Amino acid sequence: AAFGALGLAAWLAEQARRVGMVRPSAVQAACIPPALQGRDCMGCAKTGSGKTAAFVLPVLQKLSEDPYGIFCLVLTPTRELAYQIAEQFRVLGKPLGLKDCIVVGGMDMVAQALELSRKPHVVIATPGRLADHLRSSNTFSLKKIKFLVLDEADRLLEQGCTDFTKDLEVILGAVPANRQTLLFSATLTETLNELKSLAMNKPFFWES
Ligand code: AMP
Repeated sequence: AAFGALGLAAWLAEQARRVGMVRPSAVQAACIPPALQGRDCMGCAKTGSGKTAAFVLPVLQKLSEDPYGIFCLVLTPTRELAYQIAEQFRVLGKPLGLKDCIVVGGMDMVAQALELSRKPHVVIATPGRLADHLRSSNTFSLKKIKFLVLDEADRLLEQGCTDFTKDLEVILGAVPANRQTLLFSATLTETLNELKSLAMNKPFFWES
């Protein structure tokens, strides 16, 4: 099947083809249709499976229909993954003139706060640094986001990655209840159940 058959707009399927994505991967074929229908999704997928485009494509399609303010927040465990995700938003979202903002540790807080105040469409963040911003600054708001993406959720929950429970509480308190949540994880284990009940609403569930 082609991307268009999953419900993606022609311009987006064409943009995917231009960057070498001709046929959807398994996680994309499974999760893109329910994501476009507005459902929360939990997908079992690791790096290399195409999971990034499985959330980038539906987010871009919805963004193109209704662009405003900060539209999507992506939480990911590492700086490197944040940059990779931003790159896919940039190449696939090029026709939209997409503005993104990367919020990770090791960068100047003040410069980041300024960037956040400029209303990027997509914020890609590690939880610790984003929670620091939410605790200390009121230059931006996540109250109107439409999408929350939890990328590599099992790693987000790992001890030592971040004090995720406290940070997540702050972040979930800052986003609206009526958002759509997409979660991807290499493993879908018991440890994700708490996150599921905290952050998700009757998700579509996919495992290869
Ligand atoms: P990810 O699993 O999201 O880290 O993606 C791994 C790599 O696969 C990235 O470089 C993508 O550009 C590429 N990719 C994702 N989806 C497809 C696809 N449907 N066809 C070809 N390449 C893809």
